[in-house]
Amino acid sequence: MRKRVILCIDDERMVLFSLRDQLSWILKEGYSIELAESGEEALDLFAELTAESIDIPLVICDQIMPRMSGSELLTQIHRQSPKTLKIMLTGMASFEDVVQAVNHASLYRYITKPWDKTDLSLTVREALRRYEQETQVANQNCILQQMNADLEREIAERHLVEAKLAHDALHDALTGLPNRVLFLNRLEQTVQTAQESSDYQFAVLFIDLDRFKIVNDSLGHTVGDEFLKAIAQRLRHCLRPADLVARMGGDEFTILLENIDSASEATQVSDRILTMLSNPFNLEGHILVSSASIGIIIGSDQYQRGADLLRDADLAMYQAKACGKARAAFFNPDLHAQTLALLTLESDLRQALIQQEFVLHYQPIVALTTGQLVGLEALVRWQHPQRGFIAPNEFIPVAEETGVIIALGEWVLREACRQLRLWYQAFPEWGNLSVSVNLSGKQLREPDLTAQLAQILKETGLEGQLLKLELTESVLIGDAEAILQTLAGIHAQKIQFSIDDFGTGYSSLSYLPRFPISALKIDRSFVSQMLTDADNFEIVKAIITLAHSLGLQVVAEGIETPEQAAQLRAFGCEFGQGYFFGRPMDSAATEQILITPIGWQMSVDIDPSCPKNAQENTNERKGTEYRLFMCSPVD
Ligand code: C2E
Ligand code: CA
Ligand code: CA
Repeated sequence: MRKRVILCIDDERMVLFSLRDQLSWILKEGYSIELAESGEEALDLFAELTAESIDIPLVICDQIMPRMSGSELLTQIHRQSPKTLKIMLTGMASFEDVVQAVNHASLYRYITKPWDKTDLSLTVREALRRYEQETQVANQNCILQQMNADLEREIAERHLVEAKLAHDALHDALTGLPNRVLFLNRLEQTVQTAQESSDYQFAVLFIDLDRFKIVNDSLGHTVGDEFLKAIAQRLRHCLRPADLVARMGGDEFTILLENIDSASEATQVSDRILTMLSNPFNLEGHILVSSASIGIIIGSDQYQRGADLLRDADLAMYQAKACGKARAAFFNPDLHAQTLALLTLESDLRQALIQQEFVLHYQPIVALTTGQLVGLEALVRWQHPQRGFIAPNEFIPVAEETGVIIALGEWVLREACRQLRLWYQAFPEWGNLSVSVNLSGKQLREPDLTAQLAQILKETGLEGQLLKLELTESVLIGDAEAILQTLAGIHAQKIQFSIDDFGTGYSSLSYLPRFPISALKIDRSFVSQMLTDADNFEIVKAIITLAHSLGLQVVAEGIETPEQAAQLRAFGCEFGQGYFFGRPMDSAATEQILITPIGWQMSVDIDPSCPKNAQENTNERKGTEYRLFMCSPVD
């Protein structure tokens, strides 16, 4: 418990002692008594005690003292401690002094000298009781005040939390930009405004970053996130304060330009955005430039719902992508249907897998020296129930973009292996025929590809060395270590790799010796020009020389004429593929070639239209080596 002191002041020592004696009973109640012989001494003592945080409930003081009177002293003490109770001892009861002390020091009582001992004790007891009560009340008040303050703070905090929740519900957590909900709210209001005044113009821009996935995949999500934040910040700078920019999710942003004078204002903004994105970003030491496809729609009173505007801006963005990305496109209702078809294609693709609308065709790969069939390339086809046959060049890119390629690619692998295994069983003489399957970059980056291939080989009973996976050069660019590991894991199952469309990609040759590749496929574009264009002639020759010096075999793609085949053979190219040997065929037609094994022979003298003669001329003849013709039972 806090120490409590009763302070007694009188210039007569005898009076002080008798006060102390008569009040000695209070010592038992936990109080102590301090004595002072003058006002100055009393003030010093008072200051000392207060400095030590000692409680002083009561001061008893003589009125008449030299230098400082009792009422003066009490007035000063009152200023320092209003709650201390004051009792004044007066000799000749001077009414004036008492009034002064009551007024200035809130005097509690006065006692006339000589006093009655019992009277003094009672008065002091009463005073102490009152003091305790008042202190208690004050403490309670204090507690109440504290509680009140706590409550107010809690309420304020709750308001803050509520405000934050409300903010979060309408804003994107990563970039702090308004989100889809807030954007659509504002857009609805704007649509309303446009409905009410016919000359009110506004625009919606739909922005989709080009190739953002590459950043995410190759540099990781942290850098990807930083990239999005930096882009959000730059987008804000491209706009007037009144314009609204929002993040729809992923790498999609939207902008609302309100109250514009003409459509060209929207073009200016999209130009600014494209320029801003092309300025390099420095993210944790990675220098990145970006581009975006931007769809623009000018608001008109035709639109009654914000969501419709947003949909058409999105479609316009698709048009910008389709026209080659890194550009803006205005919404064009004529292209609407076309874009819708593309979107439908996306959802149809997912269905098609379930409905088993895909089939594989097989294209012969032939040894140029012997004219023998040595392999088949599996090429996927889509038999769409409404649209009929759809070529892979039309749907493979969509499948890659949407990720459907993962499931589709797995199906192709399994189906090709299954089919080949069936043929080996039916025609054991074809037991060495290899099957080539195209592998998309997405598939290669699937962590379980190695296990998937092992499973497929096990299920279908196909030997690993008969399966060749075709990869394009671009697929090998990126995280070389990870790719190398995947390829090594697959190669450990004896599966072979070829580089497809060689010469059309990045043509960085440094990767060739590092990866376990067994063949290059020279792209059709070089082969088709090689006899009419000297440069292409040299390129083909160089690729073959290069491949051989690295211990790789060469497959020439797109051979359409016997002259091309002859020239390639003269260059030492091991294998050929192309319409000259055969188009991709369905499995029934392919089976016919296996049943009736025919060769592609080399001869000049023989009429190419006579298949019988082909059988008799399997040997090269002097001067005629480079003429081939095809003898196909299929046509
Ligand atoms: P690719 O891998 O380069 O396949 C060769 C393409 O060239 C095939 O087109 C084939 O029909 C065509 N071709 C073959 N010989 C000739 C010729 O002498 N002249 C001409 N003009 N063309 C010839 P297709 O089947 O339309 O496939 C196109 C591309 O689609 C393929 O190119 C490949 O990149 C992709 N693709 C096809 N099937 C699959 C698949 O199962 N998975 C993946 N990821 N991609 C596939
Ligand atoms: Ca291929
Ligand atoms: Ca190819």
